Amino acid sequence: MHLYLPWRIHFWWLGWTTLIVLGTPATLEAAPFFPRGPGFYFDPYKLGALAVGFLAWVKLCAWVDKDAKLYRFDPVFWNGMLLGSGMLGFLLLWNLPLFWPVFILIGVAICSAAYGYLSKRNRRADAEDQLFNDKHFWRLYEKYLGARLKRAPGVKVESTRALPIRFMSRSTTGGEAGDAARVEKVQESKGYKAALEMVWDALEKRATDIHLEPTKTEMNVRFRIDGMMNNLQPFPRATGDAVVSIFKVIANIDISEKRIAQDGSFSAQIEDRLVEFRVATAGSVVGEKMVMRILDSSAQLANLSHVGMTEDMQAAIRDVITKPHGLCLVCGPTGSGKSTTLYACLHEIDRFAQNIITVENPVEYRLDGITQIEINPKAGKTFASELRSILRQDPDVILIGEIRDKETAEIACQAAQTGHLVFSTLHANDSVTAIARLIDLGVPPFMLSTALLAVLSQRLVRKLCKKCRKKVKPSTETLRKLKADPDEVSQIFRANEVAEEKEDEDKEDADESERCTKCGGTGYFKRTGIFDLLVLNDKIRDLIRENPDVQEIRKAAVATGLKSLFDDGSRLVIAGETSIQELLRVAK
Ligand SMILES: [Zn+2]
Repeated sequence: MHLYLPWRIHFWWLGWTTLIVLGTPATLEAAPFFPRGPGFYFDPYKLGALAVGFLAWVKLCAWVDKDAKLYRFDPVFWNGMLLGSGMLGFLLLWNLPLFWPVFILIGVAICSAAYGYLSKRNRRADAEDQLFNDKHFWRLYEKYLGARLKRAPGVKVESTRALPIRFMSRSTTGGEAGDAARVEKVQESKGYKAALEMVWDALEKRATDIHLEPTKTEMNVRFRIDGMMNNLQPFPRATGDAVVSIFKVIANIDISEKRIAQDGSFSAQIEDRLVEFRVATAGSVVGEKMVMRILDSSAQLANLSHVGMTEDMQAAIRDVITKPHGLCLVCGPTGSGKSTTLYACLHEIDRFAQNIITVENPVEYRLDGITQIEINPKAGKTFASELRSILRQDPDVILIGEIRDKETAEIACQAAQTGHLVFSTLHANDSVTAIARLIDLGVPPFMLSTALLAVLSQRLVRKLCKKCRKKVKPSTETLRKLKADPDEVSQIFRANEVAEEKEDEDKEDADESERCTKCGGTGYFKRTGIFDLLVLNDKIRDLIRENPDVQEIRKAAVATGLKSLFDDGSRLVIAGETSIQELLRVAK
């Protein structure tokens, strides 16, 4: 029913509007020959304003109807709000003698209904799909004015473009004067501009890591974007070495030592945000290589509805994290979004009513209202030692960056048993293996069985670039894997990847122009999570305590409804969010 109602009403209004717009000139034309008596009167300005108002309102209603379905809001409610406020307004206009004040009032009523909808949907939309907020206006500015400025004739963009980046050294020993002096020193040196350009490029491409790897003649530059390594134009070896030296100076690393592995950090002011860089060097046979990890602390913190879970799973997690005490684990390999999910969980907890302390290496997100501690094994600040000291700070919620040894695991379990809610991550393939891994680490099974609340396992899959994805008909084999009904799923999508072999040779230029502007030809843009959640019940607790056998626990877990990561990911393939190839790559 609700599918037809809005459209029928739209056509009804559209019909009237067309009649008024077309009828006005004809009536004006006929006016001198058609004497009107008192009372027959109209004003073309008012009629025009009314027609424009009508059309805008109809267009807005149609858009909200479509958009609400896309973002899974109730279209009936929002259509009702917009239609209702408009209809009420036009009814008032019909009956009251004051045209302009009421006309403005209608505008305000419709706009506030639209604003209500926009503020809700922007919270669900990705940053680049948000509308009518600062991000949208900034995008428009860059698209129209930014591009025009760059294209202005006679301006050599490359040589005159001043990049809005400023490197800042941050050392633990030298004072601020020493830091500033180091940055000033490198500004004059060869390769500084190349270093700035490289960092700017990495940030623009949403890279999380920059790798500089020397060969005999060149310095290879690779960015990790959405978890995958991407090769860039290499530097000549001399420039590359100069760039490495510059970052070593800023990160306060001994530049004379080129063989032993070293690490350091620096930050950079980029426009109005502060980005931190963790630098690690290592000597190889051909020279010194460098890896920089980019920690964008201003990055928007995700909440649970943003990490890609189904509504049911979000509800199950909220249920777990509102318990007063216990241990919640997130497991998966490095770079599977574990800490993002943990922070999304913290976000759900009222951090001003509870004392939340985190111990991390490194602190990836900054959150107001909580205490964040960074460990430093070199200075003797380990997870275990820091945990012992924070337990004396009367915390309600503790977040431990990672459990990787017996001592940390035991303290985590003890804290969970003594009235604290503890969150942590663990390297394990799935939730059941995570339990086995903790027992392998040496945590007594009885302790684990009482402390552990739930284990969430997760991976990140790359989302298909919506601009260039290609429709395909799924094979019977694919449908069987997806456990999908052939009648319901008639099409899925695949990535439009630019084939590697086409890239060399003379076709390179042609490829460059064919390349999708949104994803740069990778076919994917950004990532989302796939999950499986194991909430412990009494049966599983008994199994852990009495007979911690992986197969038995898995059987009991599947009986509670535990799905595999692949099964959770199949919803994304069916919805066209990712490809079957990508899902198989991440979760076999
Ligand atoms: Zn694309």
